[in-house]
Parts: sequence; structure tokens; C-alpha cells
Amino acid sequence: MSAPCAEPATGEDRLATLNPAQRQAATAGVADGRHPPLLIIAGAGTGKTSTLAHRVAVLLEHGVRPEALMLLTFSRRAADEMKRRVARLLAAPTGSAERGLQLPWSGTFHGVGAQLLREYAGCVGIDPGFTIHDREDSADLMNLLRHEHGLSARQRRFPQKATCLGIYSSVINTCRPLGEVLQHSFPWCREWETELRRLFLAYVEAKQAQQVLDYDDLLLYWVRMLEAPALVTEIGTRFSHVLVDEYQDTNRLQAGILRALKPDGRGLTVVGDDAQSIYAFRGATVRNILDFAGQFEPAAERVALERNYRSTAPILAAANAVISLAGEAFEKSLWTERDGGRLPALISVRDEADQAGCVVEQVLARREAGMRLKSQAVLFRAAHHSARLEIELGRRNIPFVKYGGLRFLEAAHVKDVLAVLRWSHNLRDRVAGFRAIQLLAGIGPRSAATILDNLAASPAGPSLLREQPVPAHTGNNWRAFAELVDTCRSDYTAWPAAFDRLCDWYLPLLDRLYPEPAMRAADIRQLAALAATYPDARRFLTEMTLDPPEATSAEAGPGPLDEDYLILSTIHSAKGQEWAAVTLLNAVDGCLPSDLATGSAEAIDEERRLLYVAMTRARNELDLMLPQRFYVTHQAGLGDRHVYAGRTRFIPNRLLKHFDQQSWPPAAHAAAQHPDPRRAAVDLAASMRDMWR
Ligand code: ATP
Ligand code: MG
Repeated sequence: MSAPCAEPATGEDRLATLNPAQRQAATAGVADGRHPPLLIIAGAGTGKTSTLAHRVAVLLEHGVRPEALMLLTFSRRAADEMKRRVARLLAAPTGSAERGLQLPWSGTFHGVGAQLLREYAGCVGIDPGFTIHDREDSADLMNLLRHEHGLSARQRRFPQKATCLGIYSSVINTCRPLGEVLQHSFPWCREWETELRRLFLAYVEAKQAQQVLDYDDLLLYWVRMLEAPALVTEIGTRFSHVLVDEYQDTNRLQAGILRALKPDGRGLTVVGDDAQSIYAFRGATVRNILDFAGQFEPAAERVALERNYRSTAPILAAANAVISLAGEAFEKSLWTERDGGRLPALISVRDEADQAGCVVEQVLARREAGMRLKSQAVLFRAAHHSARLEIELGRRNIPFVKYGGLRFLEAAHVKDVLAVLRWSHNLRDRVAGFRAIQLLAGIGPRSAATILDNLAASPAGPSLLREQPVPAHTGNNWRAFAELVDTCRSDYTAWPAAFDRLCDWYLPLLDRLYPEPAMRAADIRQLAALAATYPDARRFLTEMTLDPPEATSAEAGPGPLDEDYLILSTIHSAKGQEWAAVTLLNAVDGCLPSDLATGSAEAIDEERRLLYVAMTRARNELDLMLPQRFYVTHQAGLGDRHVYAGRTRFIPNRLLKHFDQQSWPPAAHAAAQHPDPRRAAVDLAASMRDMWR
């Protein structure tokens, strides 16, 4: 993040830089000990997150213990940033070091949930050594069961594994019955309700037998744990304060957790902006924030922040104009004192190649003018929209880091290593075991399944690992592997030495397993370096599953090695952040709104809010790119092809006054670079006329 924060430098009064509304939000009910439920609802860039950080600092200053604070943010990155801000605030008056502030219960809902469940596992009948499945693992398990139940071999096609998981997840996160979820969101799967119900029961049973929890379980078990009167009292009292940022993107289950923790709302603060709710597709509901105040008696105190500190007036005016056309808009009057600055630009380019060329030219020009790459971000609706640009950046040697899209953890080689580690810590985890065992040459799915069955059937499981029936020629390799698994699971092997051994074992396999082994080896070494920063294997595994590093080295180029790099990010991953200059790729219909979202009015409105979120990330400069045609892949029945695009429908003609319309490259330049056959025809016509003049 590039912006200076609102904290005072000298620290006479750390609240001095806050405006009156922010100060009220930061201090409401703290000094007098009321700690009322508090709602801070405000537009983008009004200092919601800064104000929340101030409130945390104020609470700590008034004697609240750090371990009694639960701070829930949208990502771990956001939690870390919040901790830094609070530490700076607390350090300001005394000038003491920023370091050393511990907020042990800050993180995402899922991360904090995992931490709590490990601690209370014994009280709720789960093994504290449970492993966590990410979405892909969960889909794999679902698939396994789909086969086992004979659902994949039907004449009429049963939903795919990802769809099954999507339905299951939607039932959990929206707290609605299966029938209703099918009716509303997956009508084409309605005929399978009975089979799906059977499949989901098998899925739950398999997870329990294998001691694994999936993402949704982290919330679901948390909610259920709080239904036990003894536990809810203990946990509710333990955390005197619960503070939540980006509340507009929480789902019903998360709201339920807060309600259970703080039934009368005392000590509860939530912060958000309904105009930025962009996660309905994952079950989030904006009703949470809209109904928050009314659920308490007396109602929650509500503070609105109206001054935007982030963007210049022209950027704010354009963003406000876009969101004002929303079907269901909630009145907010945002203003800024940041007068001046240029209008946001709408830049027409011929295609994605030109778009990449234009963006690179502008990025370099800004850097030439003194703006660091890190202060510039290129945003896009879908991760693959940046593919052409990434190639161009690579060619021009411009380092970048990409957020969103393919994550480090999703890279097959990284998953391999983590699967071995995870399996060694929980030999019942079939998904991890299945993957780990098949890394050995000569062992296929059938042998792997037999081995897993043997282990599951035997109470002495682990000690039998060495004696498993493997093909004769793999005997030596198998014994070495079994020894490695033993080392990894042993409490006596120091961490991260065990992980280093695992990586040493794995690296030579890369040549056989994948193309581009050298690049993948670099990822594994990066993973080993990362592992060394965690106190033990379990913490490492949990964090890697819940909040993995977001960029692979393949995408990040030289990335972290360079001190300055351009930011590439999906709009979803750009939440809460800001940059001096922002460029949005593909601001055209079909990309934004995405052609996947054209179904309902609600889905379209969510796409409009995405545009609003993207535009409001910009502090000084904002460019929206309009390629006249772009390449689409995997179109149902159409394959890959170029499509011609129009400006996004969210910027109709009547909003054009808020933008400066440009095209790139400038005409003469363009003709030289791309001889256009139509242009030649026009020239020819002119010469015909000239003959008669
Ligand atoms: P978003 O809706 O995008 O999450 P936000 O409302 O959380 O935004 P912040 O990120 O907290 O806003 O703040 C936006 C910018 O405004 C930051 O650069 C912050 O430092 C600055 N800012 C906030 N309050 C003040 C203030 N009182 N004085 C000066 N700058 C401020
Ligand atoms: Mg924020």
C-alpha cells in the first residue's frame, strides 16, 4: 500500500488528525465503558479501515488486553497491515519501537476459526490434529465419492465435482435448505436433489473419518461450537471486543458467529460499505450490514463518514456517478478536498496487444516522472485478462507481482510437497495420501488406494507403512519414502529441518513429473524459505491452506527480488487497497460485466459495484482501457475466438462528461505500426479523385 496514513508523526494526540466523525467512531463508548454495538458505514476511501485501527489503539490504551481483542479482516494481508498501523499509532507518543505488538487473534474469519477450533477441539469431539482441505482438495474428495456412489456413470449427466461442491458450500454459507439453493441458484440440478443429499452425507462422513475440515467447516464448526452454553460463555467472555472490517462481504454464517459471540452487541464493531459488496457469488449478503443496527436493543450506534481522503475530485465524481446508477443505491454523499487532477481517461485501443503496449508505455512514463512501480496498479475482472500484458511486461523486463488468480498453493508441484507433509501428519487424510503416494515412480491409483485402505483398517497404521505391498521394483524408493514420512511426523525432528529433508527428497522427482523443472524447483526453495518462518509444521500447513502467498514465481517474474515492481491484481483481490495510479483493463461488456454474470439483475449490480471498487482504488490517476476486440476462450459451443466489444454498459453516454476519451496509439503512429487495409482503401479512393482534379 502506498498511502501515508493518518497517524500523527509526533504523537501529541494520536486522534488529532481524525475528522470529528472518525474520532467519534474511534472512541465511542470506550472511556465511559459502555462499549455499545457500533456500525461504521461509509463510502470508499473515507478512512474506515484507518478509523478501525485507531479504535483498536484506543481500546488497548484503555487497558483492553491484546489477547481479548478479536480483529477480523478480509485477508491476512489486511490483518498484517492493520497490526502495523496500530503499532505505529501506539508507538507514536513515546517514539518507542513499532515492533512487538501482538494481536494474536487477528486474521480472517477462517484463520481465526481454525485457531479456535484447534484450541477447543477436545470439547467438541474433533481431533486437534485435524488437517484442512482447500477447495481443490474438497472437490477431489467429492469426486471420489461421486464415483463410489455410482453417480458419475449415469446416463443423464450428474453435476461435476466443482458444481457439487458449489451447491454444498452454498447451503452451508447461506444457511438455506438444499431444495431452496437448488431452486434459486442451480435450477438445472434440481432433479438430483435426492442423490445430492446422499452424496453430501457421504462427504461429511468421509471428512469425519479422515479428520479433515474444509473451509466451510471452519465457520460451521465455529458456529456449532458456540451453541454449547458452556463454550459460548467462555469464548464470549474471553473476547471482550470483536471488530470486523469489510463487513459487507460476510455471509450469514459469519453474522451468526458474531451474534453468538456478542448477543447484546456489547464490544462489537463492524465497518463496511454496502456499495462495495462484491462477494454475493460466494454466499455473502449485504443484508448483514444493512440489518446490523436493528438487531440489538437498543440499536447499534451508527457513524457515517463522508469525507473521502483518497481520490481527487474528478475520480470521485466519476465513481459516484457510476454507483449512482445502481438499482438499489444507498444514499451517501461523499466529498473530497483533493481538488484538481485530471479526468479519468477512457482509452480506446484496437485489441489486447495494443492494450498491453499502451499500459506498458504509460507505466514507464509515470516511472520516468518519478512514480514508483509499486504505486501503480493494473486491475482486471478475471485473472486471465492480464495474460497479454504479463507477456509484454516480461519482454520489457518490468517486474510485477500478481494478486488473485492462480495462487502459489495451486501450483501442482507446491501441492505435491504440501500433500506429503499433510499426509505425514494425518495418515487418514485420503486426498493428501492419494497424491503423495503416487509421486513415487511405478505406483498408480490402484496401489495407492490399497495402501490407504490397509492403513485405515489397521489400528497400528503408521508402523505398517514400510510393509505395504508395492511393486517389487519400487521397494527401495518406498522404504525411503516411508522413512521420510516418519521423519516428518516425528515430534523429535526439529522444524524446519524435516521440511528441508522433504524438499530434498522431492526436488529430484521434478524432472520426471513436470515440464520446466528448474522454475518449479525455485518455487519449492521459496516454499522451504517460507516454512522456516513458521514455528512448527501445523501452523505452517494451516496458514498455507487458508492464506497462501498469492503469486507464483512464474507469474511474479523476478518479483520479490526487486525492490520495485508493478502491481497486477484482480478487482476482488484489490479490496481495501489504494494506489496513486490505477489502470483497469477491458472495461468492456463481456468482461465487465463478465459474460458469466449476465443472468440476473442482482448479478449485474454486483458487477457494477466491482467497477466502483476498481475506480475507487485510484488516488491521482485513473485510466479505463477499452479494447475494441478481445479474445475469449472456452465459449460454450463457440470455442476460442475474437469478439468485438463495446464500452461497459455501466458508463452510458450520459456519464461520458466525467471522462476524457482518448485513443491509442495516436493516429499517425498507429498507421505506421499497423498498416490497416481499410485505411489503405480510403487512401486509394482519394488518389482516384485526385486524377480528375
Ligand atoms: P475502502 O473503502 O477502500 O476500504 P477505507 O474507507 O477503509 O477505504 P482507508 O483505507 O482507511 O479508507 O483510508 C483511505 C485513505 O485516506 C488512506 O490513505 C488514509 O491514510 C487516508 N485517511 C483516512 N483518514 C484520514 C484523515 N483523517 N486525514 C488524512 N488522511 C486520511
Ligand atoms: Mg478499508
